Amino acid sequence: MTGPLEPTRPTGPARPARPYEEEDRVWARHGRLTGSVLIVGAGAVGGFLAEELARIGFSPIRLVDRDVLETENLVRHPLGAPQLGQPKAPALAEAIRRAFPPCEATGLHADFTELPDEVQRALVREADVVVAATDSAACQRRVNGLALAVGRPAAYPAVWVDPRIRDAEVGEILWVLPDRRTPCYECAVAFRRGTADADAARGARVDIQLVSLATAQVVTALAHPADDRAGILDPQRNAIYLHGLTPTSPGVRATFPALGLSSRNVRVPFPPSLCPACHTSRSTAPGASAEDAPSDGPGRLTPWVAVAVLVSVVMTLLVTAAFAHA
Ligand SMILES: [Zn+2]
Repeated sequence: MTGPLEPTRPTGPARPARPYEEEDRVWARHGRLTGSVLIVGAGAVGGFLAEELARIGFSPIRLVDRDVLETENLVRHPLGAPQLGQPKAPALAEAIRRAFPPCEATGLHADFTELPDEVQRALVREADVVVAATDSAACQRRVNGLALAVGRPAAYPAVWVDPRIRDAEVGEILWVLPDRRTPCYECAVAFRRGTADADAARGARVDIQLVSLATAQVVTALAHPADDRAGILDPQRNAIYLHGLTPTSPGVRATFPALGLSSRNVRVPFPPSLCPACHTSRSTAPGASAEDAPSDGPGRLTPWVAVAVLVSVVMTLLVTAAFAHA
C-alpha cells in the first residue's frame, strides 16, 4: 500500500535486530497463521482484535478510524493515557509495531466512508479478511457492500444494546462469505429489525475483550478455511452469540438459559425479498431451505416485555381492587 497508509516510523526505541526465535518456537508448536487484515474501526473492539491478530501472526494489519483517543475511552481501550489526543488508528498501529515488531501494522486517521472510492476498494482488495467494528451503520453497510463486490470474507463484531439488558451482556459476531454463500450484514440488519441493536461502541472492557478474542478466532478461520480451527464456522449459522461471565438478564435467558460463559451459532436467514446488498432472498439463496427463522435471535427479547407489561397490569388491578375494598 502506498500513500496515506505508508507506515510512519516508530518514534520509540529502534527494533531489536535479532530474529524472534522465541515467537518462532511458539508458532512452530501452535502454527503461525498469517494473512492481511483490514480493520475499519480502531475502538475497543477493533483495538483488542488488532493486538490479538498481531500475536497470532497476521501481517499486515491495516487500521482505519476517524476518532482521536479521549479520556472517556481509557476505561476500555487498549491504548492509555500516553496516547490521549492522538488519532486512534495510527497510535494503535505504532503500539502494535513496538510491542510486536513482526507485525507490520499501519493506521489511517480517516472516516472510511469519506475516503475516495478507489482507496476504499483497494483497502478491501488487499486484505484477506475484512473486519468492520465501527459505531456507524452507514460505515458497516459500506464495508459490507465492498466486501461483497470485491469478494472478501468479512466479520462484524458488536455487542447487544437494549434497555432491557445490560450493555454488552451479549456479544455478537456476524461473519460473511463472498459469493452469496451466507446472508450478509444487510440481511442481518433486516433480521434484527425491531429487536435489540448491536453496536461495537458500547460495553465495558472485559465484555469487549471477550468479543475481540472470539472475533480473532473467526478471522483466523476465515483466512484459513482449510485449517482445523475453521471448524468453528457453520455456514448455515453465520452469527455467533456470546454470553460473558456475568449475571444473566431475564431478557436473554431464552437465548442463554444458564449462567456463565457460553456461545452459540445462530442462523441468520436471507430476507423474504431481495437483499439490496447481496441481491439474494430466501427463495433465491444457494441451497435455499424452507426452514423458518431461528427462534433464538434477538427477537426473543420481545416476549419478556409482554410478560412484564401483563404482570404490571395485573398488579395494578389487584392494588386498585385492594384499595377499593379498604
Ligand atoms: Zn444480504
